Amino acid sequence: ALKAGIVGLPNVGKSTLFNAITQAGAESANYPFCTIDPNVGIVEVPDERLDKLTELVEPKKTVPTAFEFVDIAGLVRGASKGEGLGNKFLAHIREVDAIVHVVRCFEDENITHVDGKIDPISDIQTINLELVLADLDSVEKRIDRSKKNMKGGNKQYAQEVEVLERIKEALYNDMPVRSVELSDEERLIVRDLHLLTMKPVLYAANVSEDGVTEADTNPYVLKVKEFAEAENAVVVPISAKIEADISEMEEEDKAMFLEELGLSESGLNRLIKAAYRLLGLYTYFTAGVQEVRAWTIRKGTKAPGAAGVIHTDFERGFIRAEVVSYEDLVNAGSMNGAKERGQLRLEGKEYVVQDGDVMHFRFNV
Ligand code: GDP
Repeated sequence: ALKAGIVGLPNVGKSTLFNAITQAGAESANYPFCTIDPNVGIVEVPDERLDKLTELVEPKKTVPTAFEFVDIAGLVRGASKGEGLGNKFLAHIREVDAIVHVVRCFEDENITHVDGKIDPISDIQTINLELVLADLDSVEKRIDRSKKNMKGGNKQYAQEVEVLERIKEALYNDMPVRSVELSDEERLIVRDLHLLTMKPVLYAANVSEDGVTEADTNPYVLKVKEFAEAENAVVVPISAKIEADISEMEEEDKAMFLEELGLSESGLNRLIKAAYRLLGLYTYFTAGVQEVRAWTIRKGTKAPGAAGVIHTDFERGFIRAEVVSYEDLVNAGSMNGAKERGQLRLEGKEYVVQDGDVMHFRFNV
């Protein structure tokens, strides 16, 4: 399953946020492929299309798609040099598909800040520097190796060195690798380095519970937004404390509480949606009377691969898929309606699944 890692300096609210996530608790029985680990929380992805399909089909059960949040605590200054448990934490970050960087935007004199003052930009830079240094180490090692291989006159290594030198230059200037423009081919060259600063990132600006309604004008949040804009990253203002409180409430109380605060949606929901977008994924649906369900695929996945997300047998025995787009299905009002309009297509092995496709697979067992 795909994973987003929660990172940040100590005392910024990571555990509080992570607790809210696990409290909100997806039913893990629905997601047997997810990891059972105290540091992993499964989150369900809110999707209005799934609600609409449920209205249309009236199934016994509706199951959203899910991904995992991993709590990666313990990242401190000096981690890249192996200080504390530094290297172990960096190794955890290497395994995630996206990073949620929590920054402290709340003041509370009872809760010490590791650097003695609230300064979200400095916090971001502290963490980023560790990630940059770790990447620099990986890149320099690879350059040495490629240069040795290059002596054999192999052109492939010359290209590799050229790309790596460009990346090294950026890292020397404190720029994350995600800011370096790379072609698909170049991306492939560096993929197996699993560079930390190449991963997509979003900043979760943790504001105080009193300031949650004015979060958008909070001066700390504004600073984070300005910083994030320069690197094309998204900022989600959130109050970890409020989310932790909300996650313990019943659905009805939750809605009332949010309304009182003047919020249309919980911060956690916004965070989950933003993180899902960050992962760059597509959602397709299956819609039967037993179950209406959302499934996650990477962009570019073909029909058999999409079937394989449900079960490996579906992929192995794939014959073809009946497909209708979400819009067509909703406009037609029913599967039969879509069929009458000629919008239910039969697609084969080479079909590239689109976001919002509603699919029914035919397969041999
Ligand atoms: P971590 O070290 O980043 O995991 O931080 P924690 O989640 O353990 O939070 C550190 C302390 O800050 C705890 O005492 C939290 O209750 C407190 N805290 C977290 N978020 C907020 C917040 O929005 N407002 C206030 N006042 N305290 C918070």
